[in-house]
Amino acid sequence: MTQIVIIGAGECGARAAFALREKGFAGKIMFIGAEDHLPYERPPLSKDALLQGHAPKLVSEAERYEAAGITVLTGISAESIDPAAKVVRLSDGRSQPYDQLLLTTGARPRPFPGLSGACQRIRTLRTHGDAVAIRAALQPGRHLAIIGGGFIGLELAAAARKLGARVTLVEGLPRILSRGVPEELAAVVAERHKAEGVEIHCGAKIRSLQEDSEGVSVLFEDDSTLDADLIVVGIGAIPNVELARDAGLAIDNGIAVDTHLRTSAPDIFAAGDCCSFPLAHYAGRRLRLEAWRNAQEQGQLAAANLLGAGEAITAVPWFWSDQYDLTLQIAGIADGAAQTVRREVADGAFILFHLDAGGRLIAASGIGPGNTVARDIRLAEMMIAAGIHPDPAALAAPAIKLKTLLAA
Ligand SMILES: Cc1cc2nc3c(=O)[nH]c(=O)nc-3n(C[C@H](O)[C@H](O)[C@H](O)COP(=O)(O)OP(=O)(O)OC[C@H]3O[C@@H](n4cnc5c(N)ncnc54)[C@H](O)[C@@H]3O)c2cc1C
Repeated sequence: MTQIVIIGAGECGARAAFALREKGFAGKIMFIGAEDHLPYERPPLSKDALLQGHAPKLVSEAERYEAAGITVLTGISAESIDPAAKVVRLSDGRSQPYDQLLLTTGARPRPFPGLSGACQRIRTLRTHGDAVAIRAALQPGRHLAIIGGGFIGLELAAAARKLGARVTLVEGLPRILSRGVPEELAAVVAERHKAEGVEIHCGAKIRSLQEDSEGVSVLFEDDSTLDADLIVVGIGAIPNVELARDAGLAIDNGIAVDTHLRTSAPDIFAAGDCCSFPLAHYAGRRLRLEAWRNAQEQGQLAAANLLGAGEAITAVPWFWSDQYDLTLQIAGIADGAAQTVRREVADGAFILFHLDAGGRLIAASGIGPGNTVARDIRLAEMMIAAGIHPDPAALAAPAIKLKTLLAA
């Protein structure tokens, strides 16, 4: 019987496993995950789960895997792949043969440079266990220092303020959210955090982070220090490529796949946070995304292509972040935009449309309370996918419906 093995039991792997069955695959599916839990959603870890201390929000309950005939091994790592023999060696000593293999090994937090050994009060946030430990340390009045003004650091700052902790956020670059978020949007986010009592220090040069029995400290290059009860480092993630690299697969800022999610080795695919892929909408530019919807979509696409569909990646990148009552959404890739147009939406919300030198819409980013920007960002996404060259004046005019531009 044909056997498909999926390594990495996260969002992407779970979506792929179920999609294989939905698309009629009747062979064996072996799904292997290093974590002790069944696949769970990571976005709540810096939002609701941190506030309410939820159990992990599972992508699917155990019974559904069972009903679909998907064998899930949790708490077991794949340690090596032999692409010639088509065998995976597992941490429990087993050798697992495969006909086709899907790697959905995700990413892990980038460690702070020079920090070695296990620290109790200098942590990162990627797993349910990390969220539990951070929540336990965030009592009202405790001081949390966050290193890094990216999405995870900022969402954590918002949650920590709601839990009553004092929060100082330290960013090395001149502003927060400098990777992929326009300055106008980042300024709204920064102002909101300041209004909620978060202290933000940009352009900070950190020499080291230290932990002793008294607490933790951030030591700066100008010899000043910041003392805290807990430090959380949120300076990005690195893809889990070691397994693929050691098996001789091509690596390029992630496991390098083609437009069908095929790696450089026969019968091995990769998808989700761990892989980089070429995207036709952006002249074949190679991207690696760390985004929930991408993990879902690529899991489904990988399943189709494992079964021989030969479908190319066409999805427009999309990301959202919730902080306080604000939701920020970004569709597309704004780098290389020649023109940006602002459109006001209800309740102080706004959207920035980014056009390339030829006038093609390449990205849209919006911020506002609740769902205010969701519908327009969705329409923008459709315009990006369709390769539309909208009239900038029409984009900026709230009275002109985006739907009409899409239809045109
Ligand atoms: C705190 C947090 C908040 C987030 N919030 C948002 C958000 O608001 N919006 C958004 O769009 N995205 C968000 N994301 C990103 C989103 O959750 C990820 O893009 C998504 O989880 C990626 O799924 P994945 O399956 O590719 O990888 P992962 O979720 O990383 O899963 C990979 C799994 O593979 C396992 N694994 C790795 N190597 C091996 C091995 N050798 N053997 C066995 N198992 C292995 C790992 O342990 C892990 O369980 C957030 C992420 C985090 C961490």
